[in-house]
Amino acid sequence: MIVELISVGTELLLGNIVNTNAAYLAEKCATLGFSCYHQSVVGDNEERLIESIHAACDRADIVILSGGLGPTKDDLTKDAAAKAWNRELKFDQHSKELIEQYFNNRNMDITENNWKQAMVPGGCIVVDNENGTAPGIIMEENGKHLILLPGPPNELKPMFEGTVTAYLRELEPGTIYSQTVKICGISESQVETVVVDLMDEQSNPTLAPYAKMGEVHLRVTAKAESEKEAKKLVKPLVKELKVRFGENVYTTEENITLEKSVVDLLLANKLTVSTVESCTGGMLAARLINVPGVSEVYKSGHITYSNKAKRKILGIKKNVLAKNGAVSEVVAREMAKYAAAITKSDVTVSVTGIAGPDGGTPEKPVGLVYIGCSVCGKVTVKECHFNGNREKVRQSTVAAALVLMRKCILEYFSQVTFKD
Ligand code: ATP
Repeated sequence: MIVELISVGTELLLGNIVNTNAAYLAEKCATLGFSCYHQSVVGDNEERLIESIHAACDRADIVILSGGLGPTKDDLTKDAAAKAWNRELKFDQHSKELIEQYFNNRNMDITENNWKQAMVPGGCIVVDNENGTAPGIIMEENGKHLILLPGPPNELKPMFEGTVTAYLRELEPGTIYSQTVKICGISESQVETVVVDLMDEQSNPTLAPYAKMGEVHLRVTAKAESEKEAKKLVKPLVKELKVRFGENVYTTEENITLEKSVVDLLLANKLTVSTVESCTGGMLAARLINVPGVSEVYKSGHITYSNKAKRKILGIKKNVLAKNGAVSEVVAREMAKYAAAITKSDVTVSVTGIAGPDGGTPEKPVGLVYIGCSVCGKVTVKECHFNGNREKVRQSTVAAALVLMRKCILEYFSQVTFKD
């Protein structure tokens, strides 16, 4: 079945708020096995809203609207939907009681316009809203389904996950099961080349690539009558992807991030770690420290931003810095090496680069970064060239540093080889 989304609100059109509801609903609907070919944003204008509802109902089986269910005059979604489907708005006693309860529980006065929210289109299913006063609405006619949900995400999400999901599951029985193969150390285009044949022949399960900073996720999704059946369909493709990408697959678990996989490797090998950063200014340390349980392995982080700090804190010689420049393979190597000596950590990671927007030269352009990684005295340095603004260069550097750490630890302890 086809689903179409309409997000309502002039704030969305003006860019004052980001349309996170559309992203959320689109992802949820895909997971439930619906196809979504169109989404639109409409301002608080009844005529245009009615027009959009008609157009969406012509194209889709299910139309989900979010926003514009509030008590004020510019909240027009319910009126527009009722008019589009020739329904009268009727007073709903159950919704009135829930609204009263909502205000009483909070010791708040009810204003007259709140009763507008207890008016619902005739013949609809009312979706209770436990976190606000606007009830959701489900209408059915001639095989079409119109679903109205309030705009605030903390109201919309529980309503969608409860009553609406149960309703949608009845329309499209069966289960969708997905597993994600998370790959690091190779680019999205390289990944695509490796799986092009699998992408071409996909139907059930499907294979979808998602590029992330420094990683690529391949999502394998199958639809079947039961979860067991769907898992059975997903399994061989996940296995094939693991064979094709070898050690570049860092996990197939939903809740494992790149930094967690690195911390798990450190824990498994009983290795301590310290970081020494220049252009990333502590971002690498912060990402590692995001992982619960990292205290078992993480010793210290140093931000040696200036040349003086590199000399005074790490002991890099003035002439080494003068001869090679702070952004150089030699300095990245010495940063990792000296940090290992100072912190007595098994693994040290160093970062030095030009994040921009200033400071680049033809020989050393903005985006040039050297990352060093010392594992039990064996130092590896990687030269990277990133594009984008300062923030993007710094984030790409952190991702690349995590990938390098993982690679160096695995190569040192497991003698594995990587495709890169
Ligand atoms: P309320 O009962 O609070 O008035 P409503 O259903 O009328 O809810 P809107 O008035 O359209 O919803 O939006 C209320 C708030 O909900 C917005 O200010 C915004 O914070 C959030 N919101 C609305 N639509 C979206 C959206 N598409 N994505 C993310 N947030 C949204």
